[in-house]
Amino acid sequence: MTSRPVIAVVGAGFSGVMTALHLLREGDGARVVLLERRSPVGLGAAYATHNPSHRLNVRAGNMSAWPDRPGDFTAWLRGQGLEVGAGDFATRGDYGRYLQGLLADAVAGPEAAGRLIVAPYEVVGLEPGGDGWRLTTAMGRPILANAVVLALGNPPPCRPAGVDEALAASPAYVADPWRWDPKALPQGPVLLLGTGLTMIDVALSLEDAMPGRSIIALSRRGLTPREHEGEPPEHPPQPPSRDLSPHAALEWLKRTAAVHGWRTAVDALRPATQDLWRGWSVARKQAFLRHARPFWDVHRHRLSPEVASRVANLRQSRRLKVAAGKIVRLAERPDGRVEGAWRPRGEMDAQPFVVSAVINATGPTGDVTRSRDPLVLDLIRRGLARPDPMRLGLDVDPDNRLLDISGAAAPSLFAVGPVTRGAWWEINAVPDIRSQAAQVARAVLGAVG
Ligand SMILES: Cc1cc2nc3c(=O)[nH]c(=O)nc-3n(C[C@H](O)[C@H](O)[C@H](O)COP(=O)(O)OP(=O)(O)OC[C@H]3O[C@@H](n4cnc5c(N)ncnc54)[C@H](O)[C@@H]3O)c2cc1C
Repeated sequence: MTSRPVIAVVGAGFSGVMTALHLLREGDGARVVLLERRSPVGLGAAYATHNPSHRLNVRAGNMSAWPDRPGDFTAWLRGQGLEVGAGDFATRGDYGRYLQGLLADAVAGPEAAGRLIVAPYEVVGLEPGGDGWRLTTAMGRPILANAVVLALGNPPPCRPAGVDEALAASPAYVADPWRWDPKALPQGPVLLLGTGLTMIDVALSLEDAMPGRSIIALSRRGLTPREHEGEPPEHPPQPPSRDLSPHAALEWLKRTAAVHGWRTAVDALRPATQDLWRGWSVARKQAFLRHARPFWDVHRHRLSPEVASRVANLRQSRRLKVAAGKIVRLAERPDGRVEGAWRPRGEMDAQPFVVSAVINATGPTGDVTRSRDPLVLDLIRRGLARPDPMRLGLDVDPDNRLLDISGAAAPSLFAVGPVTRGAWWEINAVPDIRSQAAQVARAVLGAVG
């Protein structure tokens, strides 16, 4: 291997930035090319917001970007003169500034001198080449690297059933709930597809841009995220044994919740979740996703008290209505509005409605077989990658190396972050990804060393 290997990191959201910083910190001389298609770099889907209503859903004390420096984010907040304690919920915009600051410090510091290139390119193709990989960028410029880390993150939601080509192309439809302008929507009621965290973000953005607008949110069960309450206990209960079946894990949750409350019980499960998941067969994982996922999601990924109180207020005043049911029809009308029909859960008859816009807030889609992303399509087409059996992302081995179509692990092609969800399940939030980013950096350096 060359004395100064080149490592390409594709994607500069939290996962890519932190993997790149670990590579610089630990890689003796290794050069890193960090590629990002969106500007500004370093924010990803989660932290590219200036809206103060968009809060972190994890307490500041648990949001350090570094696994070995737990107080780093709270120290940064203090340094900025922001009065956010370890038990509080900072804004996601501030978290984005923190991340960009880490990247800027690294770029300016001695560790990165001549070793880090941040390249504003979209990677659209990847193939074996040179001493490792040849990356094709949308600008046409190829990049050679000895190893590649895919930090592709949270793809926008898939187009839901009922949204045809004509509606998808119309200004009355918002396809990407993380990149849109609430002020650009026509006046009138808005239908949000989905009732999870993405819906909450979108509803708050709509209310901030045009207070008083009527918002209807619809999902099959109509479940909405629960609220964080109080401080976590000083001595949380011990996590369960890591070889429980989904059923036994549920029983453990119920027993623990009866003593400590459900929030503490769900949080106590966290250190064991990845091991539990890895120990389950594909059939057990599929059963969990089918029966428990909607409930898991709303109890596990909770709202800060500030956001929960605004949402409660919107719902009380009926400006936000949440419904359980299914869309049976959606179409753009000649006047630009959208008409359709939905069937309430458990009922036979569909109800008509007319709204001025529809926003797809169903949350990130992990199913790479439905992806329209050029790089993902290229990886699948070449057989360099395959979907994991649960269709949550790309299939990886326990070292986060990509598995090709035959199930063989590529020695120098890695993935990090939510795109590895099929392998780990709990790999969506900072407290999980920060450790994975460090592990992936070590594994990459081992592969090129
Ligand atoms: C709206 C939202 C809010 C969230 N809030 C929290 C929170 O409060 N706390 C928490 O812990 N977690 C939160 N999360 C979870 C989130 O998954 C992680 O915190 C983290 O941001 C994930 O980072 P990522 O880099 O893996 O993904 P992303 O943030 O999605 O970043 C991936 C990046 O890769 C780039 N990219 C993709 N493909 C290419 C390509 N081919 N070429 C070049 N660039 C490419 C994209 O443009 C993007 O910038 C939130 C997620 C979302 C979506």
